[in-house]
Amino acid sequence: MIVVKVGGSAGIDYDAVCTDLAERWKGGERLILVHGGSGETNRVAEALGHPPRFVTSPSGYTSRFTDRETLEIFEMVYCGKMNKGIVERLQRLGVNAVGLSGLDGRIFEGRHKDSVRAVENGKVKVLRGDHTGTVERVNTGLIELLLSAGYLPVLTPPAASYEGVAINVDGDRAAAALAVALKAEALLLLSNVPGLLRDYPDEASLIREIPAGEVEAYLGFAQDRMKKKVLGAAEAVQGGVLRVIFGDARAGQPVTAALMGAGTVVS
Ligand code: ADP
Repeated sequence: MIVVKVGGSAGIDYDAVCTDLAERWKGGERLILVHGGSGETNRVAEALGHPPRFVTSPSGYTSRFTDRETLEIFEMVYCGKMNKGIVERLQRLGVNAVGLSGLDGRIFEGRHKDSVRAVENGKVKVLRGDHTGTVERVNTGLIELLLSAGYLPVLTPPAASYEGVAINVDGDRAAAALAVALKAEALLLLSNVPGLLRDYPDEASLIREIPAGEVEAYLGFAQDRMKKKVLGAAEAVQGGVLRVIFGDARAGQPVTAALMGAGTVVS
């Protein structure tokens, strides 16, 4: 089993990802796709007059402050436009894909965090009304049912809280939890960069290999949202996933290239 997470940043070539996935799927590989949608969500939120608000925690992690209205915009884009766009591409390529969010069948479950600590103008503030959380449980029953019936699952945040409330969760860490739960042999985290860069944005500074036991030591190279990918990679290898690869989804055969070792390989 291979879990492929494709991000939502500008420059990602979803046609290239889907074409590559479809070929591998038809060749008999067992695959699951998890996707993001942050770039498009930002655009739609601006257009709807509810611009995104990003907050930085005291420990330096950036996340989207998700009030109810933001959650609804988030769902429109992630579960609607992005998810159906990917499912349509795969269907056109002859793959029977099924798109679901983490709410459906409670695939992704976690605790609802209603408040977030954020640093604003040098001060730590507590913001309430947040619909976020972290995936703590993956309920694999529905996914296994789909796979055994020949469907390719295409999954996206949000997740379900233990009370059944929709929560915005990080897609990279959700994919990592999924890879652990399914005992996947590889987790690919594909984005609009060649991999983890030692000196971002210098693409020539690509880090080629990271020993599984040392992932956290590389957190310092990652800025803002890349930190979540490094954290996800650490969680996946600690949970028994043999390889995590940060790969480039901008062109070519993103899945095949990553599996052949292009990008940053954590193993
Ligand atoms: P996605 O939505 O595609 O999953 P994110 O935007 O969450 O991706 O994270 C990838 C982004 O992280 C890159 O586009 C880049 O701007 C940023 N980044 C920060 N530090 C690094 C780094 N050291 N190496 C690579 N990318 C980095």
